[in-house]
Parts: sequence; C-alpha cells; structure tokens
Amino acid sequence: MHERDEKPKPVSSRRKFLFQMVRSLGMAGITGTAWGAYVEENKADPLILRPPGAPPEEDFLKQCIKCGKCVEACPYDTLRLAAPGDQKPLGTPYFVPRETPCRMCTDIPCVPVCPTGALDLDRVSKNRGNMEIPDIARARMGVAVLDESSCLAYWGIQCDACYRACPLMDKALTIDYLRNARTGEHALLIPKVHCEQCTGCGVCEHVCITQKASVRIFPRDRVMGKADPRYIKGWDKRDERRLLNIPDRFTIRTERSRRKAQDYLNDEGILYE
Ligand code: SF4
Ligand code: SF4
Ligand code: SF4
Repeated sequence: MHERDEKPKPVSSRRKFLFQMVRSLGMAGITGTAWGAYVEENKADPLILRPPGAPPEEDFLKQCIKCGKCVEACPYDTLRLAAPGDQKPLGTPYFVPRETPCRMCTDIPCVPVCPTGALDLDRVSKNRGNMEIPDIARARMGVAVLDESSCLAYWGIQCDACYRACPLMDKALTIDYLRNARTGEHALLIPKVHCEQCTGCGVCEHVCITQKASVRIFPRDRVMGKADPRYIKGWDKRDERRLLNIPDRFTIRTERSRRKAQDYLNDEGILYE
C-alpha cells in the first residue's frame, strides 16, 4: 500500500453544517408529505457503495442507526451521509469514488467508531498470533469493472494511470502485455482487475483519464458471478481440497479407468502411439 503525501484536510464549516443537518434528518425521521419521498429514497440505489467493514446491503440497513460517526472519523472526507435528493437511504454513509475514493487508511478509523457493529472490524482484520489487527486489504466495498471499449489501453494508446494509482498495485490490478493484432507490431499494455484482491476503494475510477471513467466500482453482488461448488480448479491445490467437503449429491464417483485415453481412440485401429 502506498503512503500518501497529502495530509487529511480539516472538515470545512459548511460541510459540518450540512453533515449536522443530514444527521438530524436521518436520526429523527420525517413526517408529512415528505414521507413518501423518504420511503422511496430508503429503498433506492442498489449500486450504493458502503464504507469498509459493512455487511451485505440488507443487513447494513438493519444495523446502521445513521449516527454519522464513520463520516466524521474519515480523514479524507470520502464518506458522506445521504441527503434528501441523493436517491439513497437517507442519513446512511456512502461514497462516490469518481469524486473522492477511499484512501485505504491502514488504521481504518471509520470502522471502530461505529456503535452498532454495522461496520465491523472483524470483517477487515487479520489474525496475527492471538491478536486481530486491522487489514484494510480485506475490505470488500465493491469491485472494479473495466470497459474495454473506452479504455485507451485497448485502443493501443499507452495509459496505465489506474494501474499506477492502485493501492494494491500488482495484486488487485496488473498489466497484461498482449500483441496488438491491428498493427501486428506493437504491444498492448492492458490493465486487468483481479476481483479476489480488489477492495473497491475506487482510486482507479478516480484517476481514470477518460471523460467518463472507463473503470468503475460496483457492489460485488451486482457484478460477480458464482460457480457451482461442484466445479473445481484442478490446477489449484487449495481449491482441490474443497472436493473433500462437497456433498455426494453434487458428485458422481466412478472407478478410474486403467486404460489410457489413446487406448479408447485406438479401439478402431492403431492411430495414436
Ligand atoms: S478507510 Fe479511511 S479513507 Fe476509507 S472510508 Fe475509512 S476512514 Fe475514509
Ligand atoms: S478499486 Fe481499483 S484501485 Fe482499488 S484495489 Fe480495486 S483495482 Fe485497485
Ligand atoms: S486509466 Fe482509464 S483509460 Fe487509462 S488504462 Fe486505466 S481504465 Fe484505461
């Protein structure tokens, strides 16, 4: 993870005022004609991005009491409380990576201040000895998705801004060298996101040089698939161990044939040695 040179900025008084207003609305609730809009906003935006340590959206909404403590604790002003008109559950924290990404603070100050466990350090910690220590690389705020049609690297123009900015460079984001089939002479330097490592911090989206970002962050459950557990990566020993725990109804166990594949192909006459 890279150290940042910039110091966190003090929160401006205007921002403090807006924050206090939204927090009061979020905690007190709304009455009268605004109620319909309030209910509408409370179920809106399935693409919202939450702070590190948050559970799936449905559980998060049950646990977050809209106190705004995580927003206050964020030194980079990444987190906002949803205000009326944002089309997001009112008073809940979220972030917009294109404007202000998560800077992946190593001490993750936004999480331990949460009084209800809606943001939980256990989800962003690793075990060392008998101690749980914060590990922001475990955060799964979202995942980066790249649009090949607008990314300049796919056009053959050298751009690796997202790769260089990624706090998990060479883990979450790597560069693949591919042959440029159009010119037949040059290499394409293609950024590749590794979903299993990407935290969804959104720094790549923030720095992307195209007019509208060509790499964007989405909630993981919106864009990631899930393979049936019966499929195993035979080349990955760790994954192969899953075979031991797969219920019988998912597997058909057969005797391994003593014959080689060539023997079957040669049943009609010798073709393969
Ligand atoms: S990890 Fe740091 S930058 Fe990211 S949301 Fe938390 S406090 Fe803000
Ligand atoms: S969101 Fe982008 S910058 Fe952040 S870890 Fe994932 S690939 Fe890297
Ligand atoms: S910064 Fe944007 S245009 Fe450049 S390589 Fe990354 S995704 Fe493509």
